[in-house]
Amino acid sequence: MRVIINRNLCGHPPFACEKCFGEFLLKGAYPDRSCMLDVIEDGSDQVTAVITSGPYTRELTITDDIRDQVIYDGYMKFTDFPDDAFEIPAPSGNDIRRIIHEYADEKAKQSAE
Ligand SMILES: [Zn+2]
Repeated sequence: MRVIINRNLCGHPPFACEKCFGEFLLKGAYPDRSCMLDVIEDGSDQVTAVITSGPYTRELTITDDIRDQVIYDGYMKFTDFPDDAFEIPAPSGNDIRRIIHEYADEKAKQSAE
């Protein structure tokens, strides 16, 4: 499955988002209001995280080799985000609506293809 994470949605420091995603990997449950935007079944046994942080997006496939480290240490050390990707201001209600709308539009476009 693919887990779509957009850190611009929560504006939390990286460790908070990483903890959230770790819980998801462990328990399969995710909180309502967080940066986890969507979960898409793609028929794969492996979880691929698509992480957006600031203007940047990276994909990380959680292989068995790194799974425990991602759960307990976080995913950031496996990504190559530049430093300025971590400077995320707390989003306003408008920002959150815009991000969710943009994502829905993009997803509708993809499924129409
Ligand atoms: Zn978050």
